[in-house]
Amino acid sequence: MKKQRMLVLFTALLFVFTGCSHSPETKESPKEKAQTQKVSSASASEKKDLPNIRILATGGTIAGADQSKTSTTEYKAGVVGVESLIEAVPEMKDIANVSGEQIVNVGSTNIDNKILLKLAKRINHLLASDDVDGIVVTHGTDTLEETAYFLNLTVKSDKPVVIVGSMRPSTAISADGPSNLYNAVKVAGAPEAKGKGTLVVLNDRIASARYVTKTNTTTTDTFKSEEMGFVGTIADDIYFNNEITRKHTKDTDFSVSNLDELPQVDIIYGYQNDGSYLFDAAVKAGAKGIVFAGSGNGSLSDAAEKGADSAVKKGVTVVRSTRTGNGVVTPNQDYAEKDLLASNSLNPQKARMLLMLALTKTNDPQKIQAYFNEY
Ligand code: ASP
Repeated sequence: MKKQRMLVLFTALLFVFTGCSHSPETKESPKEKAQTQKVSSASASEKKDLPNIRILATGGTIAGADQSKTSTTEYKAGVVGVESLIEAVPEMKDIANVSGEQIVNVGSTNIDNKILLKLAKRINHLLASDDVDGIVVTHGTDTLEETAYFLNLTVKSDKPVVIVGSMRPSTAISADGPSNLYNAVKVAGAPEAKGKGTLVVLNDRIASARYVTKTNTTTTDTFKSEEMGFVGTIADDIYFNNEITRKHTKDTDFSVSNLDELPQVDIIYGYQNDGSYLFDAAVKAGAKGIVFAGSGNGSLSDAAEKGADSAVKKGVTVVRSTRTGNGVVTPNQDYAEKDLLASNSLNPQKARMLLMLALTKTNDPQKIQAYFNEY
């Protein structure tokens, strides 16, 4: 209890100290609103030969704080504002003209469809301006890969979009946020980063949003790029070593410009003794799509298959993914005949992103399967 009170007091002081609002997007302060409206304009200190990089902050551990410098798990995510993040890394000014705006300030488990749409629209607006050369999004690591993949499918520009987070809060000894942010700005300003889709930068690695996933609860090397490998490395300079082959950004069928909401897509986890009632509950709650995190190669128990079958008959799209964390889910013929689609190598949480967007275009199972094969 005592520790909790201390944390509340510390957080309150931090709010005052940084002068930042930490409320979600629905309660933006007038200052944040003004920042959100403004497209980066040349400041007195702006250097013409440096790229203009806009940092859009959403919260997470990179904006987290605790009163203890040695604590790396008992902290509050999403409390430090974007201006403080920028001030903490003045070296960024040597490599880019950096400006920031606060989109929201939340732990990434609270990033929802509304925030995703707001972020994607804002990025498209900013990148349409000649004043912005690249975007960095600061984000909690827990759901970072979901936002990254959503942006990979909905940003309509070749300019670099880089998502960055950290595993240690800003107050920790050896916080990884400042170097990750510096590297993210460096990548966002690099001409070679253009046309690669949304990139994720942490721990000196550059990954494609399509393949990157969080694999460890606490360590700084948590992000891995299964199947494909990392796109590049940052060792002072940037080294790109892998091509992006999947369709992304300007080449996708998806656009957020006329979307105010996304169709409800739920994820159901497969396990021994699971039941068809899980599917019934999702359909009853309004799901238009269901991703099934099946065992192995997207397998369903008889009970789950019964539930999935009945959902499909009610017009709900069901996609099989895998709980294994790696590998391709193949379009098994028996499942395909029942219109139970295959996620290819998308994990359940990314399959959900693609299925939400696919359902804004079509309900045709073959067309949706084609999206999963392509993206
Ligand atoms: N819970 C935090 C979040 O996702 C974790 C992190 O940022 O690393 O916001």
